[in-house]
Amino acid sequence: MARMTYVGLPAHGHTNPALPVLRELKQRGHQVIAYNADYFREKMASTGADFRALPNMPSERRISEVVHSPVDASVMFSELSSPLTHFMIDQLERERPDLLIYDSIAMWGYIAARVTQLPQVCFISHFVLDGSLLAIGLGQLARFYGSVLPFIPKLLAWRRSLVREFGAENAEGVTAYADLNIVFTSQAFHPENRFVDERFRFVGPAIDAQTRKGDFPFDQLTEGEKVYISLGTINHLDLSFYEAVFAAFADFPAQFILSAGKNTDLAAIGQPPANFIVRNVVPQLAILQHVDGFISHGGINSVQESLLYGVPLLVVPHHFEQLLNAKRVAQEGAGLLLGGRYPYGRVTPQQLRRALEGVLTTATYRQNAERVGQTLKSAGGTQRAADEIESYLKKKMGAVVPA
Ligand code: UDP
Repeated sequence: MARMTYVGLPAHGHTNPALPVLRELKQRGHQVIAYNADYFREKMASTGADFRALPNMPSERRISEVVHSPVDASVMFSELSSPLTHFMIDQLERERPDLLIYDSIAMWGYIAARVTQLPQVCFISHFVLDGSLLAIGLGQLARFYGSVLPFIPKLLAWRRSLVREFGAENAEGVTAYADLNIVFTSQAFHPENRFVDERFRFVGPAIDAQTRKGDFPFDQLTEGEKVYISLGTINHLDLSFYEAVFAAFADFPAQFILSAGKNTDLAAIGQPPANFIVRNVVPQLAILQHVDGFISHGGINSVQESLLYGVPLLVVPHHFEQLLNAKRVAQEGAGLLLGGRYPYGRVTPQQLRRALEGVLTTATYRQNAERVGQTLKSAGGTQRAADEIESYLKKKMGAVVPA
């Protein structure tokens, strides 16, 4: 039995893959403490982990506001990093776990683990960006760096202040990674990458239906073709996309299920056409088992869940990282990419309609979705992630962890 602490980021896309692994570690007899924003309490505690709230976290709404720009999100998380790192160092010095698992973006977990010299595992719920960025194309990359340029002085100043506070060796940046990095995708679906070495283990998605239940009127689903639409859990304050899908599909011969996002005022998006079922949140895993296509923002979890169920995608990315995911879908022939030019996500009803027709009528998209889904399934998932963590700990600690 080992004592493990997980330090997370308040984002469902980052938290969802961690949940089944924490549950599995707990069931294998380890003691697990999990830190995240208080509004993740119920979700994290459902794994059996002992939940602790991170102090002064931004609200879910605030995160939705900044996430449209990766730079704004970086600035927000940068500003949080120093107080949260001090908080985590205090906690870890008291708890002295055998292992710290941190989300790849949670700097406060990363730096605190280094300062307290704990064995570390990093959970990566997206592609490994170092070494992968060229896959989005030189033009798009140049645009991205152009948009980041004005913020570089601010980000560098923040970096310097973290180095001053916690030491260069502890705050060199998340791209230093850990001795063991669990990547929740398959090697086959990941972009080609020369940066990745033996410290990275591609375990595929970790999914636990137990942690993902929810209400939905399944009896209202009709016999014909069905399409699911979602922009994920964060990216939904811009209502123009919903207006475009209503206009595109009001007389399309299919039924549509739209997950409009927790913070979206359903009254504000107007009266949905008769062939739509609109909810703030839906049980996505269950929905995917009923549909013929998925119009997605391209969050990595949504993309992979779709592929796992062999559902072809029409990806309309809303920011940079989603564009990379969308490119992989298109390269594998598992669907189409639309609205991939900066500023992302701008699509007309006509474009949406034409692209969806293509996705639904071309059999190879579904076949390729199934093929890639198979690579995700066979990567090992939750069990493999837990096995990798145990064998890493065993190496670090000798005989403390049971065989
Ligand atoms: N999700 C869900 N119900 C919804 C919308 C989203 O269960 O109505 C889940 C979805 O299954 C996925 C996660 O929320 O696991 C969204 O993660 P993703 O990486 O796709 O996007 P993000 O929200 O991080 O942008």
